[in-house]
Amino acid sequence: MNDFAYRTGIGYDIHRLTEGRKLFIGGVEIPYIKGLLGHSDADALLHAICDALLGAAGAGDIGEHFPDTDQKYADISSAELLREVVNLVKAKGYHIGNVDTIVIAEEPKLLPFKKKIQDRIAEILGVEAGCVNIKAKTNEGLDEVGDKNAVACFATVLVIRDA
Ligand code: MG
Repeated sequence: MNDFAYRTGIGYDIHRLTEGRKLFIGGVEIPYIKGLLGHSDADALLHAICDALLGAAGAGDIGEHFPDTDQKYADISSAELLREVVNLVKAKGYHIGNVDTIVIAEEPKLLPFKKKIQDRIAEILGVEAGCVNIKAKTNEGLDEVGDKNAVACFATVLVIRDA
């Protein structure tokens, strides 16, 4: 890995919405009739941020670090995974500049939860809330996300080499 002063990363994730699961988005439990299906708590937003940070660190992807075949990660809080990724970025001599995200969900409406999600992610990352941005949108009724069968998330990050 080079030692550029700045590095960026991009992350994407999608999880299926299903009944009988709690819904976690950005480390916040959101009241809804369905939750995201996955090996961990299936928090697609935190997974996208993990992948963006791993990309910025030149460290592969979330599946390599936390295989879904490993029982250690069954139903784990994705906040724990993200904390591990933050430590990896720090170990490489970088700190987080900012994180920008998009959550695409037809339901539930996320506007009332955006501030809580922003604060929670900032807390996990160990940065000020102003370094984290959440954009919530629908898929305009199109495709599986639009049919309320899935939630998809994108994240991009900037990391800065420590002085
Ligand atoms: Mg995932």
